[in-house]
Amino acid sequence: MKILVLNAGSSSQKSCLYSLEADSLPQKHPDPIWEATIDWTASPEFGLMKVKANGVKQEIKLDPGKKPDGIAQMLDTLVQGETRVLEQLTEINVVGHRVVHGGSEYSEAIRITPEVKAAIAQLIPLAPSHNPAHLEGINAIEKILGAVPQVAVFDTAFHSKMPKSAAVYPIPYEWFERGIRRYGFHGTSHKYCANRAAQLLGQPLEMVQLITCHLGNGASLAAVRQGISVDTTMGFTPLEGLMMGTRSGSIDPAISIHLIRNHGMSADQVDHMLNKESGLKGITGVSGDMRYVAETMEQGDKRAKLAFEMFSHHLRTAIGSMLGNLHRLDALVFSAGIGEHSAVVRQAACAGFEFLGITLDPEKNAHPEMDSDISTADSRVRIFVIHTEEDWAIATECWNILGL
Ligand code: ADP
Repeated sequence: MKILVLNAGSSSQKSCLYSLEADSLPQKHPDPIWEATIDWTASPEFGLMKVKANGVKQEIKLDPGKKPDGIAQMLDTLVQGETRVLEQLTEINVVGHRVVHGGSEYSEAIRITPEVKAAIAQLIPLAPSHNPAHLEGINAIEKILGAVPQVAVFDTAFHSKMPKSAAVYPIPYEWFERGIRRYGFHGTSHKYCANRAAQLLGQPLEMVQLITCHLGNGASLAAVRQGISVDTTMGFTPLEGLMMGTRSGSIDPAISIHLIRNHGMSADQVDHMLNKESGLKGITGVSGDMRYVAETMEQGDKRAKLAFEMFSHHLRTAIGSMLGNLHRLDALVFSAGIGEHSAVVRQAACAGFEFLGITLDPEKNAHPEMDSDISTADSRVRIFVIHTEEDWAIATECWNILGL
């Protein structure tokens, strides 16, 4: 069984191939047998494709004029050269696509049909830089692989059962009816982490209550009650919620109005500032990378220290806000680049909750094994570090949908 996973973005494409035995899904995720990425922003002169398979790593420069053929060029490396892992592309049984926005329609992954493509297209105004790229990816696969089954796995799906009290914004109700609502994102990661946490707790997902913290360049939290995301920090767009690498997260919405009205900024300029020039980058003035922030803070940089303290403050605030909609907490989960690798961020986040008996083991926190418990034996809540496996989660959805 060969499952291709594709994450097609506007400036990058990422893909991997899983090869599974035909009878059952493995309990533990296997490594993909082939991985490829194309970064079209690597240089003005070329796009950079990196491919990894058969113990070989290759870097190939691509002509930016051939961007529409990017996926075809990437898939060529599956059947040619040192990274060849297939005799022919027709061996691929199913293709799973990460799709950022599924709107209110989709609460589950779904097999792609012309109707699903039309729905993804209709949602372009809500995800203008993502959904068009996903559609291009779906069409490219159709062109290259013909009638292979394709599956859309939506970032928004896991949050679609959120109660209305969390989903509706307190603005005139007709805007909710017109689609202005909290959708939430990173759903594939939150769902994977929630399932993995339940496994680590040794209980069915339906029995546990969790807070999952996906802390990457984009960052969001979810409150997961009995397998359902009942609240999440991202909202109508992935801009809401936590302070992030280059995104502001939640700010007083009147700031945008003020900048447009009194400082001559256009809506596009405010959009750019809040999405690309804010967050850790906005405060340090240099970088949105948490490694840079932590290192320069250690060296005494005051702006880096402020950025770190703000990030930690907003993270604690968000954890507190998620707590309010759970009936108890079984585990707090840290995941993605910062959540998995930054001991100082985890320490700063948990320090706010020691009075509730949520206590980190400093040794375990300093050098955690992946998918392990880093809380003290007497902590009232387990604290897990979980390596998120979004690609594997997408592959699993494909398997389930095709009833393999
Ligand atoms: P994306 O949202 O792009 O998938 P990632 O999940 O890869 O992002 O997370 C990127 C973030 O993780 C960056 O801020 C990076 O600095 C941070 N990160 C990665 N490794 C470490 C590390 N060892 N220590 C601290 N932060 C790290």
